[in-house]
Amino acid sequence: MNEPIIIVGAGQAGQKAVETLRQKGYEGDLVMIGDEPFHPYQRPPLSKAYLKGEMDEERLFLRPPAYFETAAIDFRKGAWVSEIDPASHTVTLEDGESLIYSKLLIATGTRARALPIEGSDLAGVFTLRTMADIAPIRAALEAAEWVAIVGGGYIGMEFAAVAVGFGKEVTVIEVQPRILERSVAPEISNYLQDLHRSKGVRLELGSGVARLDGEGAVSGVVLANGEMVPADLVLVAVGAEPVAELAAAAGLAVEGGIAVNAACRTSAPDIYAAGDCTVFPSARFGRTIRLESVQNACDQAKAAAAAMLDEDVSYDPVPWFWSDQYDVKLQIAGLSQGYDRTEIEGSPDEGQFALSYYAGDRLLAVDTVNSPRQHMMARKMLTSQ
Ligand SMILES: Cc1cc2nc3c(=O)[nH]c(=O)nc-3n(C[C@H](O)[C@H](O)[C@H](O)COP(=O)(O)OP(=O)(O)OC[C@H]3O[C@@H](n4cnc5c(N)ncnc54)[C@H](O)[C@@H]3O)c2cc1C
Repeated sequence: MNEPIIIVGAGQAGQKAVETLRQKGYEGDLVMIGDEPFHPYQRPPLSKAYLKGEMDEERLFLRPPAYFETAAIDFRKGAWVSEIDPASHTVTLEDGESLIYSKLLIATGTRARALPIEGSDLAGVFTLRTMADIAPIRAALEAAEWVAIVGGGYIGMEFAAVAVGFGKEVTVIEVQPRILERSVAPEISNYLQDLHRSKGVRLELGSGVARLDGEGAVSGVVLANGEMVPADLVLVAVGAEPVAELAAAAGLAVEGGIAVNAACRTSAPDIYAAGDCTVFPSARFGRTIRLESVQNACDQAKAAAAAMLDEDVSYDPVPWFWSDQYDVKLQIAGLSQGYDRTEIEGSPDEGQFALSYYAGDRLLAVDTVNSPRQHMMARKMLTSQ
């Protein structure tokens, strides 16, 4: 077929897919469509070095703009795909243009989850997902005295570390009894809680949020117990949800994410999906999983590109992830859900240790703090298991 391969979504996964297709010798037409007004960029620095002002904008981009011309990629920047018609192999853009594909990759990622409570629309209330979010957040951060963060997940805690560095009074409000509750064991949460407190962050754990207060602009967060946390900047960091409406409207199976098999195929012929927006079966972990990580975006996009070129593909990764808070690097290999015991190696007091998660004798995951060597060893061990 002479029709192009089309990629919807120009994030980490979309970029890796176009690169892989070209590296593997695909010489046909290649179109990548992304709604953001930028070339594909990496998101992790948005809550770390770039937010701090320690990284130039150019370094965020995954490839220099010239790459797209050299690699003959028809990159449509700032363009929203509004419809997919699997029967006619057509995608329609918001401006009405229709394009026919031979194969389609959906790599639409996730969006920041909104907080459905009173006051969420006040000035000074932000979510953090895109490069365009950063300039207004940084301006507000410079002007703010009190910063409140709703959600003690990775983005919330990384933001807390940066905000404290700006000399702000920072409070993190987390509904669970500890931070990062969904992804790490109490040993890691406790270590990081102590770290944040030692830097001056106030943690309101086990606290729900009733509403955000203010007239025009936010002035505080009212907790479920009625207490008021003063804030002239509120970051809502309560997770992300897959951007799957386009796929659902096209009749593709969506089960908490776009459902794909181990070859990254969706339920419709010639349509593949990769990255944050997917759910996929993992034989390794014995269940269907959805990951939000650079590892998954890149590796699943590579697998999808190979599958689109009719290679045999069975994607079942050892997931890995990292988070930087102050001078601490937390690295996670594997998935710890379902563990029944942990073993610690090294010393939290000295700020360097590894925590292994087991189910019976089976190693499920290893979290390391400031120990890249142990992280790499863990990835090898989990892969060979
Ligand atoms: C602040 C922040 C910090 C992070 N830190 C880490 C970290 O430390 N380590 C780590 O491993 N991961 C981290 N992540 C997660 C990582 O960045 C994501 O897992 C990764 O970006 C997912 O890539 P993706 O291509 O699947 O989705 P995205 O990068 O979200 O790209 C999807 C793109 O598709 C576009 N799009 C959606 N629908 C349409 C449409 N209909 N038409 C056109 N375009 C569309 C979106 O606007 C977006 O540009 C972080 C994420 C954020 C936001």
